[in-house]
Parts: sequence; structure tokens; C-alpha cells
Amino acid sequence: MSENLPAPASLSLAGHEVSPIAWGMWRFAGADVATARARVDAAFEAGVTLFDTADIYGCDTPGGFGSAEALLGEVFAEAPQLRERMVLATKGGIILGVPYDSSAAYLASAIDISLRRLRTEHVELWQIHRPDLLTHPQEIARALEDAHRAGKIGAIGVSNFTPSQTAALARFLPVPLVSHQSEFSPLHLDPLFDGILDQSMECGMGFLAWSPLGGGRLGDPADERTRAVASLLDAKAGEYDVSRAAATYSWVMAHPARPIPIVGTQNVTRIREIPQAFAPRWTRAEWYAVLQTSMGEKLP
Ligand code: NAP
Repeated sequence: MSENLPAPASLSLAGHEVSPIAWGMWRFAGADVATARARVDAAFEAGVTLFDTADIYGCDTPGGFGSAEALLGEVFAEAPQLRERMVLATKGGIILGVPYDSSAAYLASAIDISLRRLRTEHVELWQIHRPDLLTHPQEIARALEDAHRAGKIGAIGVSNFTPSQTAALARFLPVPLVSHQSEFSPLHLDPLFDGILDQSMECGMGFLAWSPLGGGRLGDPADERTRAVASLLDAKAGEYDVSRAAATYSWVMAHPARPIPIVGTQNVTRIREIPQAFAPRWTRAEWYAVLQTSMGEKLP
């Protein structure tokens, strides 16, 4: 069978219709407000409606912890209509040097401070950034249920969780966990085999794929494996006259869990190219060829 895998369509997440591609703000802090706004505008023009940030983004810049959220808050202060059109996702629970805290008191305060920085009353999606091994899921659930009831967070997701950590938390939450967020790209294949994509489909959870270009490694391949994967992506890109990045996002989106790649580029020209990713179609054989090339072995 050589029929093409299905085309991406708009998806439902946290009770909202969202674009099949999100735009992320890990690398957002440090820009001035005009530059920041131009990136957000470019993402909207490219059809993006789902935006992903985190309280810790910017911790590697002079503005420090919170500065990516604060910069987005400044954009909203200048252009409140942008906030209204956006499905906004943020995260918390990482503290540099600790490294994780999901205690009820910490999460309650982290959510409040994030909302203040973002200059918004609520976010549509709030995600636990990484699992805290020292907090019982019942305690996490209590804090998140309180924030949800108070209208501060529209829906709850997890990031970098295992399927069993997710199930343990879901057991104590009165509302569904709506999303996973894990690293997934042609260079990082774990969710295909660790049960995360299976659980996303089983439970009807959205799946957000972080670092869909391998954190940029696919933009500038530096080793033989990456070059071999890039050359298959280039062949698909050439067929549709799109960029390698677009072909990469389309490979990610071809999985039946309908992963949402979180595009990380901060370059306005590249942000504008996002819609190119909806053109390429993969046959099964081509999609598996990228997988097997990345694995460096044939599937049995
Ligand atoms: P990525 O899309 O894999 O990498 C983006 C980086 O690649 C940028 O520095 C970009 O530089 C560079 N790049 C090089 N060539 C490129 C090309 N041809 N096209 C596009 N970009 C190219 O994603 P990421 O930034 O690592 O992560 C994306 C988002 O995932 C983040 O913003 C964040 O929202 C989320 N994330 C989540 C976690 C988590 O733990 N939950 C962890 C990491 C990231 P330019 O900006 O110069 O284009």
C-alpha cells in the first residue's frame, strides 16, 4: 500500500479548537517588545493559535526566571487583542538548583505569579513542567483542582511525564488531563515506544512535541546520523518545494496521535513558513524510512 498518510486538520485541545502547529517561547526572552510582538504577529499570520511558554523560560538571559512570560505580558499590555485570540499554555514546577517542586503551596503560588507576569486572569492550559518525585499525586491534584475551580487554569496537562506518572495523577483529578508534552522529532523517538503516544490516543489527550527540529540540530546537521535523516527530509521537502523544517513538522504530524509540533524558531521569516508544513504527504514506507534511518536499524 502506498497511499499517503492523512493530512493534519485543526485539533481540539483544552476545549478549544487549535492550530495543528503551536509556537513556543523557550528562546523568546531577551528581545525588545517590538521584536517580541513581531514574532507573535507572524505566528498568528501563519495560522498559529496555540502558544506555549513556561515560567522558567528566560532563566538563561539577563532577565532571568519569568522573563519570557513577562515579555509576553508586555506584548499583551500593548496589544490586548492578541491575548484574546490565543490559546495560551504555560508551565511551572522547575526551580533551578532544586530542581523540581510540585507541592501544593509551590504550585498555587507559581500559577498566581505566572498569571501576574503574563498580565492575564487565566491561561487555557497549565502544564506541570517535569514530574516532582517528592510530591504525592493526590497533593498535586488538590492544588491544580483549586486553581481550576478558581478559573485560573482552564485545563491541566503534563510535560515529560511517564505514562504511569500520568495515570497516577489522573486517578486523583476530578477533571481530565488534557495533554502530554514530550520531546519528539525524527531525532528523538522515545514517545513512539515509551507509551506516551499510545496513552495520548487511549485517553484522548493532546500531544505537544517539543524541539521538533531536535533543538535546531536538523537545521544544521553535525553528524552522520543527522545528515542521513536530513537527506530523507530534504527529498520530501524537494517534492513539495518546502523547507526541510516544514517536511520535518509534517513527519511529526503524520503520527495518528496527531502530535502538535511546537515550533521553536524566533526568526520571523521562518515563523512565516509554518504553513508549508501542511503540504507534504508521507507514504508509510517513506515515514518508516525516516524512523529506521534515525534508529540506525531496520524494524523486524
Ligand atoms: P526546535 O524547533 O527543535 O529548534 C528551534 C531552534 O532551531 C531555534 O534556535 C532555531 O533558530 C533553530 N533552527 C536552526 N535552523 C532552523 C530552521 N531551518 N528552521 C527553524 N529553526 C531552525 O524547537 P525548540 O526551540 O528546541 O523547542 C520548541 C518549543 O518546545 C520551545 O519553545 C518550548 O515551547 C518547547 N519546549 C518544551 C520543553 C519541555 O520540557 N516541555 C523543552 C524544550 C522546549 P532561529 O530561532 O534562529 O530560527
